[in-house]
This record gives sequence, structure tokens and C-alpha cells, in this order.
Amino acid sequence: MNHLYHLLTASADPARLLIEADDGRRFTYGDLVEISGRMAHALLSLGVNVGDRVLVQAEKSPEVIFLYLACLRAGAVFLPLNTAYTKAEAGYFVADAKPALLIGGVAQASDLRALAQEHGGRVETLGQTGDGSFMAAARAMPAAFINTPRGPDDLAAILYTSGTTGRSKGAMMSHANLGSNALTLRGLWRFTDADTLIHALPIYHTHGLFVACNVALLAGASMLFHAKFDPASVLAAMPRATALMGVPTFYTRLVDHPGLTREAAAGMRLFISGSAPLLASTHDEFRQKTGHAILERYGMTETNMITSNPYDGERIAGTVGFPLPGVSLRIANAETGKALPQGDTGVIEITGPNVFKGYWNMPEKTAAEFRPDGWFITGDLGRIDEKGYVQIVGRARDLIISGGLNVYPKEIEAEIDALPGVVESAVFGVPHADFGEAVAAAVVFKAGAAGDEKTMTAALAQRLAKFKLPKRLYFVTELPRNTMGKVQKSALREQFGGAHGA
Ligand code: AMP
Repeated sequence: MNHLYHLLTASADPARLLIEADDGRRFTYGDLVEISGRMAHALLSLGVNVGDRVLVQAEKSPEVIFLYLACLRAGAVFLPLNTAYTKAEAGYFVADAKPALLIGGVAQASDLRALAQEHGGRVETLGQTGDGSFMAAARAMPAAFINTPRGPDDLAAILYTSGTTGRSKGAMMSHANLGSNALTLRGLWRFTDADTLIHALPIYHTHGLFVACNVALLAGASMLFHAKFDPASVLAAMPRATALMGVPTFYTRLVDHPGLTREAAAGMRLFISGSAPLLASTHDEFRQKTGHAILERYGMTETNMITSNPYDGERIAGTVGFPLPGVSLRIANAETGKALPQGDTGVIEITGPNVFKGYWNMPEKTAAEFRPDGWFITGDLGRIDEKGYVQIVGRARDLIISGGLNVYPKEIEAEIDALPGVVESAVFGVPHADFGEAVAAAVVFKAGAAGDEKTMTAALAQRLAKFKLPKRLYFVTELPRNTMGKVQKSALREQFGGAHGA
């Protein structure tokens, strides 16, 4: 089945609960078909053509998922944006993707309107409770919709990720990319229509959108939507649920909560973690408290999921398990691309139907991340142990993962460098009790100039989403450099990398 919408909804029971929002609103699979049909009509009536991008920057709600499916049905390309992005950040994506339609939440709509005036596109709104101009337009439309035919290589979505240069790149995901991965994960993790997934992830990222929602939809399962992760609410939902997908931060917070007990998790069959490394100590503590071994998996925006610990076999802490069925993985020399012997550490490269179609508008960047023989270079460093489990040992890129969200130092450095009196800066990750890693920066001032941390952080907050804001700014007279002139971030981490609190 080529069309992702058909695949995801083919076997759904119309009466079965699909999503319960945390405001109590409930939607069945039948509602999904009806509402996405009305929305697909609305998209066409608002001028969206086949292949057009529909940019969505709206708070998490069931309607955003229906809109994703409506885009598939209308042959449009769904483009979700992090709701925390500032106008300056969103402007880059609007200019790059040139969406025909921009749908904003209450908080985002006025910024999107200003951006659309500059770059083109029409703006509608989508509130968190089914309100807004887009929903009003959809409600006036008929429910029956004849889906626009789409082939396996046609685009379903663009998800922006960041690159080594700090500039975000739009990863183009086809119907077949997403469909193949959802089929694999449903089988591997044994999702069925008897499952209820606790969904507390954001839905603008591959984890919450594709891993969680595509798998649940394909299985005909139910989801309990939590607007944000809150350990007490997640614990309260467990008696009604069977599975949880989370970033490591979820699990570190759960183990710290007195409510996490064997009884609390008794009805759950599966806890999955990904998007960042799960500490072995968290895995062990969680197991002690609940009897459940968290299943850790590994993936990235461009590839969907790549590896997973086994459902039945041993789930080994500190590893991300085996390559998924249909995915080939090799460890290669980062410079030459030559495959390395078993046990050696190198860059992780993969092929498979899950690997994206390239970066939007960036053929050179796309070419640079594939080997001539077609393997995709993930940029992660890893090794395969003697039992065949993949271990991620570090990131080739200088990425910081804070609370499961990626922060690219270059982007933050550019913002700091633009502040009055600053010569240069270096942004690096430091261990953080709550977020895994936090952003810190070393800043060099011009001679005679000075600044204070509070004022500078306040200025940065105007430009950067909260999760990217440096938790500390360290003022230094010069940055440590090697003989090649490269800034030695490891030295900064050593000097300033003591654990930072919550
Ligand atoms: P994203 O594109 O935002 O999904 O980020 C992908 C990156 O997250 C990967 O390239 C890895 O560096 C990292 N990542 C994802 N899952 C894991 C994991 N289980 N352990 C370690 N790193 C991970």
C-alpha cells in the first residue's frame, strides 16, 4: 500500500478511541476519518495544491494529528514547527520552505502573519481546543473526501533538523519512508488495538509524531495525549494504559517520583526510550522500582528509527540494540567510509527504506551525507559489541541534547556574538541533572567591554527558544584553541563541566 493515509487507517475500528486529550475531549477512529476529510477539503479550498507545504506551528492537540492526516489525504506536505521557536527562527523555515499555508496556534499566529506578508502564503489559526479559523473552515466542509493518489516516493512531510553548520535542514520524508518504519516498529514492539499509549511527547518532532502516532494508528491503538510531560499525570494515567514512549528525561523524572512503584506500572507492558542516551543507572533504578526493563531504541529525523533493543531478548542498558529488520547498519571510518571490523568505533552508516529523500533545497548537503554506494552517514559514532548490540559512543557533530531536544552550538554562538561588546563565544554541553545536558557558553569580550550574565541571557531569550538558552555564561579572556586554530570544546567542558542543577 503506497499511500500512507490508507496504510495507517486501513484496519481501524471506527468506534475505537484514537485520542483522548488531557482536557477530556475524546476522538475515535471514525472521528479521525471524518475530521481529516473535512480538513482535506478545507486545505484545497484555501489554495493548497499537491506537493505544497503546509507549515503548522500550533500547540499539541488531536487536531494537529488530524491535520497531518488531512495533508496526506490532500497530497500536501506536512511541515510541523517547534512551538517554542521565536519569530526570527520561524522566519528561516518560512523563507526556506515557502509554504502555501501557514497554520498557527493562538501564540504563533501574529508572527506567522508577519512572516507570510514577507514571504508569501496564507495564514489560518488552530487553537488547542478545536477552535480557530482553520477549524471553522473545515467544519463547513463535507466529511467524504477522495484521497489524492500518492506514490511511495512522494513527500509526506518535511521535518527540519539542524546541521553541523548550525543551519537547519528540511528532511524530506516520503510516504514509503514513514510507512515502512511504522510497519516494522508495530511488529517489533507488538503494538495491537488492545494498546493504549501514553503520549506526552511534542508532536513537531519525529519521536512524538511518527514513532508514536504512526505506530499507534497503524495498530489501531488508543493514545492518551498529555500536553506536557508531568510525572504525576503520567503515573495517574498508567492504570488505563499499556505503553509509554519517552525521552530519557521522562524516565529520570519518573524514578525520582515516589509514585513509581511495581503496582503503579503493573498494567503496563512496554516502556520505550529514545532521542538521547538513557543512563544505565536510570535503566537499573527503573527496573528495580517497577520490574520493567526500559526498551531503548535509536533513530534520527532523517532516518526514522534505526535500531532497537529486543522485545523478547535481553534489553541491555547503554546499548541501543540491533538494526531494525530491513535496515542495514555498518560502522565505518568517518573519513574514508570504509567499513571497520566488528568491535571498532566509527561513524554509524545505514541503508534501508526508512532513509529520507534528501534535504529540501540542499542537493549539495544531501550529497555530502551519503556515500557513493548510497549509505547514509548518520554523524553518530558507535560500535557493535560482541553480541551484536549497537552502542552509541558519542556524536561526531557538536550537538547538545537538552531534555531530548537538539541544540546546535553554532546557532547559539551566532546569537551571543551579535550581542554588544562580544568578540566570540563557544557553546558546549554540560551534564545536567534533569535535562541530561544543558547549554553553557564561554564568552570573550572586546577590550574594555563587559557584560552581565542576566542582561545577556534576557537578550538571548528574545531570539532563542527556552531550551536553547545557555544556563550559564562564563566570561573568559580567550578561547582554548589547538594548533589548527580549532576551539577545544573538550577543554571548556573540563573547566566548566561540573554537573548543573535542575
Ligand atoms: P533527532 O534528529 O532530533 O531525532 O536526533 C537524532 C540524534 O539523536 C541521533 O543522531 C543521535 O545522536 C541521538 N539519539 C537518538 N536516540 C538515541 C539513543 N537512544 N542514544 C543516544 N543518542 C540517541
